[in-house]
Amino acid sequence: MVSETMYCVKCRKKVKSEVKPVTMKNKRKAVTGKCPSCGTKVFKMVGGGGAKKKVKKKVVRKKAKKKKKR
Ligand SMILES: [Zn+2]
Repeated sequence: MVSETMYCVKCRKKVKSEVKPVTMKNKRKAVTGKCPSCGTKVFKMVGGGGAKKKVKKKVVRKKAKKKKKR
């Protein structure tokens, strides 16, 4: 378990929480835990600043599946 500063929507403040890392379906990494004061689930994306709207188009085609795109 790792401690992270999370934002609790219920307390409306940042809380320190024990979190565990999870990987979402889109392979983004996130951490999830519980607010220590109210027990609400807290969730945060981590790593690479992947939550930004503008995604740099980084085309990785080397190991792409058979996808003919012309
Ligand atoms: Zn809370």
